[in-house]
This record gives sequence, C-alpha cells and structure tokens, in this order.
Amino acid sequence: MLKILTNIEDIQGAKGEIRAGGTDLHDRYRMGVSSGAIIDIHKLDFGGIVENADGSLTIGANVTIDNVGQYPKIQSGYGALSKAANGLATPQIRWAASFGGSLLQKTRCSYFRHPDLTCTKKGDSECGGRTGQHPNGVVFDKGGCAHSHSSTLATALLAYNATVRTTEREMPIVDLYGDGSAHDRDHLLNENEILTHIVLPPAIAGEKTAYFRSISRFEAEWPIVECSVRLVVTDGVITDAGVGVGGVSQIPLRLKNVEAALIGQAATQSTLAKAARISTENTKPLPQSAWKVEIMVNTLLHTLEMALKG
Ligand SMILES: Cc1cc2nc3c(=O)[nH]c(=O)nc-3n(C[C@H](O)[C@H](O)[C@H](O)COP(=O)(O)OP(=O)(O)OC[C@H]3O[C@@H](n4cnc5c(N)ncnc54)[C@H](O)[C@@H]3O)c2cc1C
Ligand code: SF4
Repeated sequence: MLKILTNIEDIQGAKGEIRAGGTDLHDRYRMGVSSGAIIDIHKLDFGGIVENADGSLTIGANVTIDNVGQYPKIQSGYGALSKAANGLATPQIRWAASFGGSLLQKTRCSYFRHPDLTCTKKGDSECGGRTGQHPNGVVFDKGGCAHSHSSTLATALLAYNATVRTTEREMPIVDLYGDGSAHDRDHLLNENEILTHIVLPPAIAGEKTAYFRSISRFEAEWPIVECSVRLVVTDGVITDAGVGVGGVSQIPLRLKNVEAALIGQAATQSTLAKAARISTENTKPLPQSAWKVEIMVNTLLHTLEMALKG
C-alpha cells in the first residue's frame, strides 16, 4: 500500500516506511530485504534552502543532494559539505535522492542487503558480518553491528556542528546517531518521526575546506574511508577545525582528538601529520578490517593537506 502525504499532520497513525527519493528504499524492496506499506513524503514542502538573517542556512530535508552540492552559498561558505555532496554516488542518484534520506539511509552491509544472510539489524539472532566476512568493517569496534555507517553528508555536517529539526524536536546532528551503542539502528529517529530541516550555523569567512574519499572504484561505490575537513587559519595558526570521518565506525564520527591536535598549532605539514596520526587513538579493528587503520590516517592527512592548500 502506498500513502502519499500532502499534509505533514497525516503522518499521525500512518503505517509503513517513509520514502523520500526512494533510492535506498527501492533497492531494499527489490532485493526482498524490506517490504510492506510505503508513506511517500516527497510532496511535503519543507521549503528549499533559506538564507537566514543571522547568516545561518536552513535546508529542507527534501532538497536533493545535487541542489545541496550546487547551491552557491553552500559552495562558498560550507565547502566541505558541497564537495561531499558533489562527490558521492552518481549524478543520477544525486538528482533523485534527498538530503534527509542521505542522512537516514540504511546500512550497506552486504549481510543486511542479502535476503538470505543473517543480520541482527533485520531481527536475526546473529550478526553475519561479524562472524563472517568484514574487510570493510569498522575500525572503532564497539561490539554489535560491525559495519560502518553509510552517510557521507553526515560526516560533513559533523564538521560544521549542524543541527537537525524533526516533527518532534531539534537536536545537534551528533544526537541523530548517538554513540553507536544502539546496534540495531542506523539513526535514532522514532517511528513516524520525520526529519524536516538541516540547519547550518553561520559560515566563517575564509575557511579552508576539503572532502576526500579513499574508494575502490571511481564512483557509484561507498568509500573505504572518507573525510570532511574545515580549517580556519589566522596568521599561520589553526584557530578552528572540524573533522568528520566515515567508513570507520557504526556511526558517522567527529574526531575531536584530531581537532584538538590542530587548534592552536602552526598550520604546517608536521602539525597535520601529527594530528592525522592521533586518529588511531582508541581504534579497535576487527580481524579483517585492520588494514583500514592506515587508510584512515592517510585519508585524513590527504584531506587536511588539500584543505590547507585551499
Ligand atoms: C551506486 C550508489 C552509490 C552510493 N554512494 C553513496 C555514498 O558514497 N555516500 C552516501 O552517503 N550515499 C551513497 N549512496 C546512497 C544514497 O545517497 C542514498 O540512497 C540516498 O541519499 C537516499 O536518499 P533518498 O531520498 O532516496 O532516501 P529514501 O530511499 O527515500 O529513504 C532512505 C531511508 O531514509 C528514511 N527517510 C528518508 N527521508 C526521511 C525523512 N525526511 N524523515 C524520516 N525518514 C526519512 C526512509 O524511511 C528510508 O528508511 C549511494 C547510492 C547508490 C545507488
Ligand atoms: S555488521 Fe551490522 S548490518 Fe552487517 S550483519 Fe552485522 S548487524 Fe547486520
């Protein structure tokens, strides 16, 4: 059954999985991993991209990833976000997929995506990814789900301290995912809670930004590790930094220890190298994912270098 919402109030009592662009949902329905009623929200008007008087930006959850990547104020003021948006998936996906859906998409773990393989996120008692093949698994293992979170844009939003609004609340982006202890969840929204807006704080003039992904093929693939970076450099000193990393944890991660190692230091190669190395603190890779630790360090270092070069 398909219910197309034209009024957000009608979500009350509606039964089914929410669909925005449908690029993740339909893949799962086709594979027989998900099924049942669909609540389509693409007609709900959350507004497009609004430039607020205080310099912040409010972006409707149904704005496409392509529009996020191409919007001039996002390109000029939030470079890490626009570069991440323009660098993920394929042009066709970016035209169809929504910003909200990109943050709430379900895991790409192949055990989850295969109808015949076991996965605790599908309600099975065993996590096939942990006991089986997990070369692309997490490197900050917390037990439970062993696969990394899929959202590229969440890593950029973490670097920008963005907040999100839903039909029930407003919260920092970090609270959309929690600390990774909810092993059966890809995000912490309640049933029928709709993500309506993403809010970016006022842009900082002259900020240096970069997004880089280490990936096994040119496009149409999720990265092995990805990184979004913003740096503010004043008189040769890094005065502010935001570092988000994906592909390494069950949640999108902000690396505060790396940010702390950058802030207050001279903007030099040696500072960047030391900070990138600090990302290995607290790593706990799985037997088959240890190779990703060095990929993480080098992805991070390369992204920091790209940002500094401008
Ligand atoms: C080949 C390929 C490569 C890709 N590479 C990447 C990549 O590198 N990085 C990356 O991040 N993504 C990647 N993607 C995934 C793509 O970004 C997602 O499929 C897309 O962003 C999902 O958005 P959507 O609007 O189509 O979501 P939908 O498929 O409509 O929904 C996805 C999920 O989000 C929920 N949802 C959607 N909107 C809302 C809302 N407003 N409120 C509450 N719940 C909501 C839905 O219920 C559903 O569970 C790739 C996809 C493909 C096919
Ligand atoms: S790693 Fe996560 S998604 Fe993959 S099978 Fe285990 S619980 Fe499921």
